Amino acid sequence: MFDFLMNDEQKALQEETRDFTRSVDRQYILDLDAEKIQYPKEILQEAGRRNLLGLRFPEKYGGRGLGWTDEIIALEEVATLGIPPSCLYSLVSIVGECINEYGTEEQREEYLRPTLAGKKFCSEALTEPRGGSDFFGATTTARKDGDHYILHGQKRFIVGAEGSDYFMVYAKTDPDAADPRNSLSCFLVDRDDDVEVKHVYGLMGARGGGTGRVLFRDTRVPAKNLVGEENGAGRIFYRMMVPERMTSAAGAVGGARASLEVATRYSTRRMAFGQKIKEFQAVSFKIAESITELDAARGLVYSTARALDSGIPAGRARRMVSESKKFATEMSWHVINHCMQVMGGIGYTNVYPIERALRDCRLIMIWTGTNEVMNLIIQHEFYKEMADGKAAGRDTEFDAPEAFNEEEKIFE
Ligand SMILES: Cc1cc2nc3c(=O)[nH]c(=O)nc-3n(C[C@H](O)[C@H](O)[C@H](O)COP(=O)(O)OP(=O)(O)OC[C@H]3O[C@@H](n4cnc5c(N)ncnc54)[C@H](O)[C@@H]3O)c2cc1C
Repeated sequence: MFDFLMNDEQKALQEETRDFTRSVDRQYILDLDAEKIQYPKEILQEAGRRNLLGLRFPEKYGGRGLGWTDEIIALEEVATLGIPPSCLYSLVSIVGECINEYGTEEQREEYLRPTLAGKKFCSEALTEPRGGSDFFGATTTARKDGDHYILHGQKRFIVGAEGSDYFMVYAKTDPDAADPRNSLSCFLVDRDDDVEVKHVYGLMGARGGGTGRVLFRDTRVPAKNLVGEENGAGRIFYRMMVPERMTSAAGAVGGARASLEVATRYSTRRMAFGQKIKEFQAVSFKIAESITELDAARGLVYSTARALDSGIPAGRARRMVSESKKFATEMSWHVINHCMQVMGGIGYTNVYPIERALRDCRLIMIWTGTNEVMNLIIQHEFYKEMADGKAAGRDTEFDAPEAFNEEEKIFE
């Protein structure tokens, strides 16, 4: 984060998070990518011990009662550990939001508190084999049976599935609802309640995050584990998209920064044609473009965090969060790709971490809603904002010599 935008407490939080990231052994990160470790439980446990999980949640559950501006400072640092640790770290913020906002007191005690302490591990299960973008088209069902719901169906690409103690799951409780947004309910499902997890994917990157398929074969879930109201998960989903996408955005900034520092340092040492490669504009301009894009993304993510903390209207929040997710994740792909080019052949090898960063960061343009879906939301919300037809300030449409030539202003 920009140091000049941080207050003293935030600077201390940044340093605290940096101390945490420095405490992680390099071999652990290598073992995640090599899939010798399937789930980074130890990292979450350590973050929990340091009280760094779920910073935005109330102190009475073990959080710190901080805001989004604080959380993105921490996330930028955590993301220097790579996508899997930062994703699992973010899941606490994502699933925690659901429980904190919509859960019962009992659910907060049973799930939120141990999750923030790094003693219980969670996943969020939205995506199904038949599709992820069309969320309300989900086919996993939940049928009420006395004081239980019976879940049937499956979810795929679920990060953390391999190590999770419980899953936040969306399922259809009213498949015939006229409006699909009123057809889903949200549940906290314990792994022990007969949930099957399959490790079925070879991933290009983001390895070691425990991504798996989650199957419910008539899984009996106590009715008390319903979150919010029956058929009321639409509201929860819209709210959840804020932490999902803000964490992706802030993580993208941290990942890109880490690679850019490596490549910039390299360019000050590597020689070609008798001079340091940074003396070639082809190299230093890539660094210039990268830091500009990185700072622009960081600025957008920060403004969005400020906007969320100040409680802007939901539609505006949706647009800004989607812009942040899209812009920051695409920035991260461009920047890390530039880093590889700056480093030449060695950047493509495992002597430097750039190849892993590039593989890892490709994912974040796809998950937590693809960037095409971000575009859908951004345009939708902006058209709504513009619908009154009035210009925000001076209306420049009429600052043209023939502005009142109505014969030429043909729209149909
Ligand atoms: C490693 C990994 C980890 C993941 N972790 C999780 C997780 O923890 N929990 C979870 O629930 N999900 C998770 N996902 C799923 C991820 O969120 C989805 O893959 C993503 O939302 C896209 O869904 P899909 O793969 O079904 O693609 P589809 O929805 O089939 O989309 C395919 C293509 O069509 C485009 N498209 C679809 N609809 C539209 C539209 N209306 N307008 C324009 N373009 C459109 C998409 O942008 C995309 O390019 C993960 C995925 C991966 C690969």
